[in-house]
Formats: sequence, C-alpha cells, structure tokens
Amino acid sequence: MRNVVIIGSGCAGLTAAIYAARARLEPLVVRGHEAGGQLSLTTLVENYPGFPDGVQGPELIERMQKQAAAFGAEFREGDVTRVDLSRRPFTLEIGKEHVETRTLIIASGASAKMLGLESERRLLGHGVSTCATCDGYFFRGREVAVVGGGDTAAEEALFLTRYATVVYLIHRRDQLRASKIMADRLMHNEKIKPIWNTVVTDVLDVARNEVTAAKLRNVRTGEESVLPIAGLFIGIGHQPNTDLFRGQLEMNEVGYLKTHDGTRTSVAGVFAAGDVQDHIYRQAITAAGSGCMAAMDAEKFLEAEQG
Ligand code: NDP
Repeated sequence: MRNVVIIGSGCAGLTAAIYAARARLEPLVVRGHEAGGQLSLTTLVENYPGFPDGVQGPELIERMQKQAAAFGAEFREGDVTRVDLSRRPFTLEIGKEHVETRTLIIASGASAKMLGLESERRLLGHGVSTCATCDGYFFRGREVAVVGGGDTAAEEALFLTRYATVVYLIHRRDQLRASKIMADRLMHNEKIKPIWNTVVTDVLDVARNEVTAAKLRNVRTGEESVLPIAGLFIGIGHQPNTDLFRGQLEMNEVGYLKTHDGTRTSVAGVFAAGDVQDHIYRQAITAAGSGCMAAMDAEKFLEAEQG
C-alpha cells in the first residue's frame, strides 16, 4: 500500500515527488510514455527563475528527477493503464503491476493537438512532426512549414530557422496569438514567411511516405494552392491527458481536470497538478508550483485521515 502515487514525470510530477519524498511519504512516480513531459521536448528555457543564462529543458528535468530520487522517490517506467477511484484505497494498473494507494497526484500533462487530417496522421514521423526540437535537424537545407499562431508555433518556427532555408508560418487568422516578444522575433527573422488566413487541407504525399507539399486554402478568398515543403510542423496547442479519468473525475468541456481549494479534484484524496488542470498559464514554473501544492495537499489529507 502506497501513501502517494504520482502519475507523470514532467515538472509538476517531479516537484510533487520532491515535496512528497521530503515529507517521508515515499512516493511512487509513474513516468509515462512521454517521460519528462513537455520540457524534455524543448531547448533553451529562458524564463525559469534562478537561471539567468537559461537552462536546457531536458537538463532542468534531469536535475528535478535527481533531486526527487535523492530524497527517496521511487520511479516506475511505463503508463498507468487503468484506475479505479470509486473507493479507497485507489487501485491502479501499471502494465501488469497492480498498485494500491491512499492518495493520488495526477500530473499527466497535455499532448500536442493535431489538425485531424488522415494524411497528417499517416505521415506523422515521415515529415509531419509536433516537435521541432526533436525533428528539426532532419530538415537541414530544406523548406518547411509550421501551422499555428501561438507561442508554440512561434517557438517551433524560430527553432527551425537553424536548419531550414525557409520556414512558412501558416496561420488561420491574420493576427498572431503569440506573446509580443515572440511575435517580434518572428517578424524580424527573414527566414520566416507568414501565410495569413490560411488552413492546411491536406498533406502530400502519402503514397511516397514522405512530405512533399501541403494543400492550402485561404479562408477569406477560398483560393486553393499547393505549397512545396519537406516538413510540416503542427504547433496548434495541446490537449490534456485525461482519458483514463473520464467518468471518474470532473473535467471541463475540453477535458482539463477541475480542481478546487488548491489542487483537490472531485474525488477526495485525488489531486491534480500542472497542465492536466491548467489551460491558462501552462508554464514550467506554474506547473512546478502546483506540483508542490499537490504534495502538500496530499500530506495534509493523509494527516487528517490518520486523525
Ligand atoms: P495557443 O492556444 O496559445 O495557440 C494555438 C494556436 O494554434 C492559435 O494561434 C490557434 O489559432 C491555432 N490553432 C488552434 N487549432 C487550430 C486548428 N485546428 N487549425 C489551425 N490552427 C489552429 O497554444 P500554444 O501551445 O501556442 O500556447 C499555449 C500556452 O503556452 C500559451 O499561454 C503560451 O503563451 C504558452 N507557451 C509559452 C512559451 C514560451 O513562453 N516560450 C512556449 C510555448 C507556449 P487562433 O489564434 O486563431 O485561435
């Protein structure tokens, strides 16, 4: 029987693990198939306090994990495949392993959204990507496109200018959603060519199993065109990883877990931290902060239970 199981190993989960381990709760962290979370897919993080020269995302995660392990957190590879939150102790399945726990901290984060095109799905990993940091290198000297107008798309586009000769930024409106500083960097980079009021309607060429072009439609004029590119990066935001909890925990209309009084979910003893419950701030520092809160909330809950 565990005191606390933490689902997810991004900065919310790892911060929860540091605090829970220091509270002598001997937490078990289930790392998940996107171990390290979104920070492990980024490059330089410039806004995490304490690093005036920035820090590489994967390095920040590795440091947090070391810190949690040093205080006695235990780590398990793999995904939680089933949970039963209808009675306490809660039960979880991690592959073939069956675990019982008094409290649960959900820090399963959010994953990249896709456009929903069949060709996009078929070509994922063959020229379609959701991670410039992971795949940008393959497009040295080629022309690529990024879809989206927020900070994710901006960051992806700027990163890709290291490798690609031209980076088209395809946005469905004529105004960016990205923060001012990112928008300025985009507009001042001569390798980046915005294509406004435009959506991708198809990705070519599924038959060749590689990306050769994107079919576009101007949403104002209806005009259709074909843009030759070697890579298409989807940067249109994220969706929370909450399928496992559907029907068991309260969520908002797009699937983010609802929390109240700190990190409490609709089931007593279950807490949520990081992007799985935050569709507004979504920053490393806010995720870490809510991970800390979740561990403290779980500790208080256990104390109250033991009377
Ligand atoms: P956002 O929701 O901010 O932006 C998503 C973008 O994708 C929007 O421009 C949206 O268009 C567009 N979009 C959404 N769905 C579709 C679709 N189906 N087809 C075409 N376009 C679509 O998500 P982000 O991931 O960019 O950012 C999320 C949060 O994380 C923000 O708060 C951001 O500031 C933060 N962030 C910060 C970073 C940093 O500081 N370095 C880096 C990355 C993220 P429309 O504008 O028309 O809605």
